[in-house]
Amino acid sequence: MHCPFCADTDTRVIDSRLVSDGSQVRRRRECSSCGERFTSYEVAELVMPKLIKQGGTRQPFDEQKLRNGIMRALEKRPVSVEDIEQAITQIKSGLRATGEREIPSQQLGEMVMTALRKLDDVAYVRFASVYRRFKDVQEFKTAIDSLADEPNQK
Ligand SMILES: [Zn+2]
Repeated sequence: MHCPFCADTDTRVIDSRLVSDGSQVRRRRECSSCGERFTSYEVAELVMPKLIKQGGTRQPFDEQKLRNGIMRALEKRPVSVEDIEQAITQIKSGLRATGEREIPSQQLGEMVMTALRKLDDVAYVRFASVYRRFKDVQEFKTAIDSLADEPNQK
């Protein structure tokens, strides 16, 4: 870390302690060049990974877009707003938990499908049919059949 007084890069930590319930680290540093002391704070970075689209372009995670997609699939379905919000929170935690800076957008799509499947079978099929762009009726039927094989776990 640069010394804020002389911009020298050679600074050493003379004290280190946890603050704010352990979510921050406070460090006392001393510049080896000018001898000035200063404090730095460190916090864990919890960022949403960017999404890598099919063409290779990167897009920032857009919560509103995610919510819209889920709402569209759940239109007129008997699912509470509370359950929807919980699913969105879980998807966001799942994204952060990857620890990646970038993930394929497909991975988010799979996470949404997993969440919808737990909420509502009809919504799951609606989302999957748009998302996976079923090529034919057979493919669609296979997806429906797979619902019967694996009953949703509530
Ligand atoms: Zn200095």
